[in-house]
Parts: sequence; structure tokens; C-alpha cells
Amino acid sequence: MANYQLPRGTYDAYYEDALNIDKLVDLLKSFALTYGYSSIHTPIYESTSLFTRSAGESSDIVTKEMFTFTDKSGRDITLRPELTAGVMRAVVTNKLYANKDLPLKLYYYGPAFRYERPQAGRYRQFNQFGIENVGVTSFYNDVETIIFGYNSLKMLGFSHVVLKINSIGDEESRQNYKKALKEYFQNHIENMCSDCRRRFEINPLRILDCKDKDDQKIIKNAPKMCDYLNQESKEYFKNILDLLNMQEIEYQVDDTLVRGLDYYSHIVFEYHYIFGDGTSLGALGGGGHYDNLVHEVGGPQLSSVGLAFGIERLNLLLKQVDPDNYEKVNLDVYLMTLGSENLPYVFSICQNLRANGFSSDMTFDNKSLGAQFKIANRKNARFAIIVGDDEVKNKKVKLKNLITEEQFDVDLDNLIDELDQKLM
Ligand code: AMP
Repeated sequence: MANYQLPRGTYDAYYEDALNIDKLVDLLKSFALTYGYSSIHTPIYESTSLFTRSAGESSDIVTKEMFTFTDKSGRDITLRPELTAGVMRAVVTNKLYANKDLPLKLYYYGPAFRYERPQAGRYRQFNQFGIENVGVTSFYNDVETIIFGYNSLKMLGFSHVVLKINSIGDEESRQNYKKALKEYFQNHIENMCSDCRRRFEINPLRILDCKDKDDQKIIKNAPKMCDYLNQESKEYFKNILDLLNMQEIEYQVDDTLVRGLDYYSHIVFEYHYIFGDGTSLGALGGGGHYDNLVHEVGGPQLSSVGLAFGIERLNLLLKQVDPDNYEKVNLDVYLMTLGSENLPYVFSICQNLRANGFSSDMTFDNKSLGAQFKIANRKNARFAIIVGDDEVKNKKVKLKNLITEEQFDVDLDNLIDELDQKLM
């Protein structure tokens, strides 16, 4: 017999975990609707060049992490490592930008694939929920996006959220900064990791992302982005911080935050959850402002701002910080039949309960009452409905509250009302 293993870096989610992931996503979708976003779905694979162009040749994602293959017709295809590039491609393909009411406000959800070293909260297939605002003209759009992320984490029940924010300036500021970084790292690069040596050649900004402990000591003394922002970029950043202050959103300016994708300009941000002992699981989500992405993928010059959350990280964390609110597999009602001749009566009641929105289940096997109570218990049913010959004859059921153990006779005609009241 073949013995199939779970592919490395992936996971199976079932029961509570799967339910909780579904709930998280449902809550985020509803929250996005309240901010005026609508949904967009795009394919999980695209032309490889879409990602190399958008994420950038120097990003870790492109250089090390893409799942790339050639299809049967010889096309170069990549499983999406993030969803923004595909969404921008869809905006251009379908000319959604021709809509006069810019910005387009879109939310998305689905799997992304990165060939990373698996560890807690880091998978090779994971899910992202995100929003995009395409065709933005005001820093208010940036702040609205940041606040959406911040408030959605609060809505999900995370109380200790730390918002980190930085400005990587406009193109001119970044060019000047990259020049300064090159001059600084020139004298250190030989002693730095091979990734940094590669980053030094293609995009020295990426060096600031390095997690190597020794490299970080060198990075600590590197020139700071804030000293290279031109007047316009400084003002843009100040406007955003002022508006966040006005809205009483707490933040930390983190001048090493550059994020892993090349398409950002001006504002980048991340959300972290800090445990009591000061540790963190890594970023729960992050995003930023980008000016050229729509143009890069063949559309007009439209500025955008967006963010993405990693659903698995949110789920892992929620389980730790709010276990009481973690979803449980349960049922409103488990129906029990005494005697197989009563099965048609119970089956009809079960269908009727479902039609009225009560989660209900039953067995079609001829099992003892004790065995049926055991199933009800395993399925976390709140109520049992027990039906024998007398109940069928009198058009009644026995309704038992499985938590308090109270039991009542209920006329079939009153069953829905009775359950409605008791389950409130
Ligand atoms: P990024 O697109 O890199 O900005 O990632 C946005 C969010 O997606 C991160 O903050 C994580 O929560 C999540 N994420 C990124 N990579 C992974 C991964 N390999 N496994 C699980 N979650 C991830």
C-alpha cells in the first residue's frame, strides 16, 4: 500500500481549526463590506513574469521562494506568492480602472505559495486576506487602509496590536538613500551573508530586511531612511502620522521596516501581536502604498494602497490568546429514534429543523438510546429530540436540554417556537 505524506510545509485543517479559519475569514469579509470594499477572485497561478516584475528581481520571494513550472504548452507559470500582483493584473485585463468612481476598493482571500523553510506560522501554502485601493489620490486612503487593518484585528479580539510604520519615500528619495546605503555597506559587505552580498548588487534596501544576527549589528549603524526623504515625502509621511494621531491610533515608527516586495513607495506598515514576555509570532499582516504597479502590469499610472493578513497566523494566535472564543464543532439538536418504524417521522422533523436554520443531525442505523446519547455528546449537541411510538401517535416529541438535563413534551406544531426561545 502506498503511504502518502502531507507535502512538506503544508497542513491539514479540520474540525475546530477549519471552523475557526472559516469564521475568521467570514468576519474579515463582513468587516471589509462595512468599509465599502467588494470582492475580487483571481487565479492561483499567473505568468511568472507578472511576479518577477511586480515583487521585484531582488526580493526573496522572486529569487528563492516561487513555485514555478512550465505547463504542457511551454508557458512559464508560477503559483502566486501573494495576491496583489494578480489583482492588479485583473484590474488591467478587465479595465476596471475605467470606472469613474476611483479608487476601486477590493478585498480578496485565497491561498498563496512560497517555497520557504517551514516553521511555526510559516508554511509553503498559506492563505491571505487582503484589501486593495486602486486609483488613490489622498493620504486619507493610506490612513483608511491602515485603520481598517488595525480595527479588524481589534474586532477579531486581539488587544495588544502594535502597528509599525515607516516611509520609504518617493522614487527620488529612495535613489538617494540607496546610494548612501551602498557607500555605507561597501566597507562591510565582504563580512555579510551571501544574501546580503546579492542584495548589495541588486537592491541595497533589501539588506535592511536581513535577519542574520551579525548582519543586524552592521545594519543598526546604517544611514536612516528618514534622513534621505525629500520635502514632499517628508510632508506625505507627516500628514499620515498626524491623521493617525488625530484618530488616536497608536503606532511605532520603525526606520528599518522596508518589507519584502519591491513595489512599495512612501508608506509601509505591519501589525504585530506582542505577548506578555515581549515575544511575537512575526507580522500578522502588513501592506503599503505603491505608485507604479498598475502601470508595470500594463495599465495607466494609478497609485494604490493595500494590505494583507496571513490567516494561519491569525488563527494560531487566536487559539492562544482567546481560547474561549475558539469555534467548537457543535449541533443545536440531535434527534434520536426508538424503533426503526419511527424513522420516517423523525427524518421529516430533522429536515424541517434544518429548513428552519437549526443545525441538526441523526443516525439512520438502528442504535440503542444509550448509543445515540453518546453520539449527541460527541457532537456537542445542545438538545436531544427523542421519539418513540407514543410521540408519533400523539404528534409530539420529547425535548431534552443536554446541558441542564431538563426534559419536556412538546407538540410538533410548537417545536420550532420552543427551540427558538430555548436557543436564544
Ligand atoms: P507579505 O505578503 O510577505 O507582506 O505577507 C503578509 C502576511 O502573510 C504576513 O504578515 C504573514 O501573516 C502572512 N505570511 C507571509 N508568508 C507566510 C508563510 N510562508 N506562511 C504563513 N503566513 C505567511
